[in-house]
Amino acid sequence: MIIINSDKCRLHEMGEHHPERPARLDAISDQLIASGLEYSLTFLEAEPIDKQLLSLAHKSNYIDSLFSLSPKQGYAQVDPDTSMNKHSLEAALIAAGAGIQGIDLLMTDKERKVFCAVRPPGHHAEADRAMGFCFFNNIALAAKYALEKYSLNRVAILDFDVHHGNGTENIVSGDHRVLFCSIFQHPFYPYTSLDNTSSNVINVPLSAGAKGMEFREKIWEHWFPSLEAFQPELVLVSAGFDGHLEDEMAQWCLVEDDYFWVSQKIRDLAEKHCSGRVLSMLEGGYALSALGRSVVAHLKGLLPG
Ligand SMILES: [Zn+2]
Repeated sequence: MIIINSDKCRLHEMGEHHPERPARLDAISDQLIASGLEYSLTFLEAEPIDKQLLSLAHKSNYIDSLFSLSPKQGYAQVDPDTSMNKHSLEAALIAAGAGIQGIDLLMTDKERKVFCAVRPPGHHAEADRAMGFCFFNNIALAAKYALEKYSLNRVAILDFDVHHGNGTENIVSGDHRVLFCSIFQHPFYPYTSLDNTSSNVINVPLSAGAKGMEFREKIWEHWFPSLEAFQPELVLVSAGFDGHLEDEMAQWCLVEDDYFWVSQKIRDLAEKHCSGRVLSMLEGGYALSALGRSVVAHLKGLLPG
């Protein structure tokens, strides 16, 4: 398994008390070492995405506006929760670029599993706006790139972050080459309407207080029959860990073993339909220790059994 990351993703920060902070990546590194998993992983430096590729998922006026907003000093606010420092644009380009590199590794048969330990996250970013700590939609860009560059017809995106991936839905809804499956706390931020009736979007709302058993049952019942019928040629994961019991960003009660479970199911799906090819990208997860431990559980679940 390959881990794609970059120290430059640590330079993006949005103020001292902002939960989406550089220490998140350190917490993941620390737990990879503590778990002993680090020795079975290969680390690769993430490269920035080509600016032209951003238009696979984003409107050109939005892309240009982010480039022009990038501040030389201080912060530029782009959304009530989201701001840029002088390193943010580069970090966002690197986070998106990691996904592109990952797709190339998977589609040229060099690797079977890739995890991008990058920030800023992406799944709230819509075609024409930044939102909820996200600038570019890393996972949607990876999906669109895989479809175009490698002429794929069926790419699945699975999103188990506690928040709905409204940006991913905004970008892929109606593109029937993509099946987007999401499970999220509801009602809750980002307060997406559940009215999307596009058959390539499977939204599974789950109430505050939900425990692992409900999370597993809903996923098994609502995601997997459609995924089996879809027969994905590639599986992408928006891996957010803010549904953990210890994470105060939301009110689910998941533990590491729930992330291990869903990751094993994703691995089995990919082994059955697409030679095991999985690209997973970090989204949320703000309780540092729980985040690190949950990423370890996720990677262990993705590894061959
Ligand atoms: Zn989240």
